[in-house]
Amino acid sequence: MRVAVVGAGVSGLAATKCCLDEGLEPTCFEQSQDIGGLWRYTELIETGRPSLYPSVISNTSKEMSAFSDFPFPEHFPVFLPNALLLDYLRRYTEHFSLREHIRFGSTVVSIHKHPDFATTGQWDVVTEAGGKQTSHVFDAVMVCSGNFSEPSLPLQCFPGIERFRGQYFHSRQYKHPDVFQGKRVLVVGMGNSGVDIAVEASRVAAKVMISTTRGAWLLSRVFEHGYPWDMILNTRLMSLIKTNLPGPLSWWLINYKVNQWFNHENYGLQPENSWRVREPVLNDELPSYILTGRITIKPGVKEFKDNSVLFHNCPEEEPIDIVVFCTGYTISFPFLKESVVRVENKHASLYKYVFPPQLQKPTLAVLGLIKPLGAIMPIAEMQARWVSRVFKGVKLCRTLSSLYQACVSCLPRLSWRRK
Ligand code: NAP
Repeated sequence: MRVAVVGAGVSGLAATKCCLDEGLEPTCFEQSQDIGGLWRYTELIETGRPSLYPSVISNTSKEMSAFSDFPFPEHFPVFLPNALLLDYLRRYTEHFSLREHIRFGSTVVSIHKHPDFATTGQWDVVTEAGGKQTSHVFDAVMVCSGNFSEPSLPLQCFPGIERFRGQYFHSRQYKHPDVFQGKRVLVVGMGNSGVDIAVEASRVAAKVMISTTRGAWLLSRVFEHGYPWDMILNTRLMSLIKTNLPGPLSWWLINYKVNQWFNHENYGLQPENSWRVREPVLNDELPSYILTGRITIKPGVKEFKDNSVLFHNCPEEEPIDIVVFCTGYTISFPFLKESVVRVENKHASLYKYVFPPQLQKPTLAVLGLIKPLGAIMPIAEMQARWVSRVFKGVKLCRTLSSLYQACVSCLPRLSWRRK
């Protein structure tokens, strides 16, 4: 069975490997000249590719992030600078001989149902390499093109931005803090990009403010007793508690745990609707930077003026020179018809966030879209195992049992200790 894999990032590599494990024939199309997807830093911002800033360090520990059959090298630190994460992906690629299944410089232009899709489940895949288009027929497709390539810049939500005379850009454009030297900076959005960029800016800028409409739970990478946060919060016991306790009780528990480091309310960070688990923000410096006045937390933006900004519930205008919109990303699949995967409000309509539910044959799947409370790599691997078995036609009970095995093998490695 021939499977097209779109993209050679974390999910695409796991997909290619799991196809090989199941005896399928994967061909992975990667538009750039190298593997790594999001984790391959380039100084140049390339259209259609994610763009990192060079200081990005993984938010999840290596013990919790590894693929189940390929641990990180012992000498790697617990939280990985982006270059080491890429190094790990290169080792994984070489170890499982994935490179020979990847076609670099090949962009997938379109994926359409083959005329006899209803009986064969096949797909017509058109790729472009060196200006030349090629058509292929595949028995199945794994879409692993990621969700951090298309910035969401909802300028319509920010009245007056058209007359603001300072500089503004999306976090995707950010590389180095020197642009903030001596400036008054406003960071819009309190996700991980927003907080990282605000902290870096505050070391050189005259003033830094973060505007947040909802607040966020802020966690330190170093958690209870010095363990990585995800080894404490993502245990079987915690998961049992989170899923089985009545809502208010589980909210109280989360509230209690995350407020042990500092009280979020005192710092202006308490998330609105805090019982709904929103992706936490990982940063070790922000609380002390707030205490020392390097960073100020502000509510949502009401209006921009020529050289300043007004916030909701704040009468004074704040003068600013630069605005960084850390407003996240939208999902898009430019090579797929909307009738195959519908995206609405940054959310794709998929069964288990993997399979389009309306297809006559389950021969197309999207991997890696999920935003878990923790590492994505083991989940991408579980998705790849499940999908490759569905493609192969393995009976449901075997698939479920192997999913269970995968879950068990991906749960915390108990051997972690301080090296
Ligand atoms: P994000 O997590 O999607 O956060 C975007 C934020 O923008 C929202 O939380 C919201 O902030 C604000 N926002 C969005 N629309 C808005 C609107 N219309 N008006 C006002 N504010 C609006 O985006 P991100 O921080 O770029 O992160 C993207 C992904 O990359 C996340 O999964 C993140 O964890 C990951 N990431 C990881 C690292 C790392 O591993 N070190 C670093 C950076 C990013 P408020 O609710 O606060 O207003």
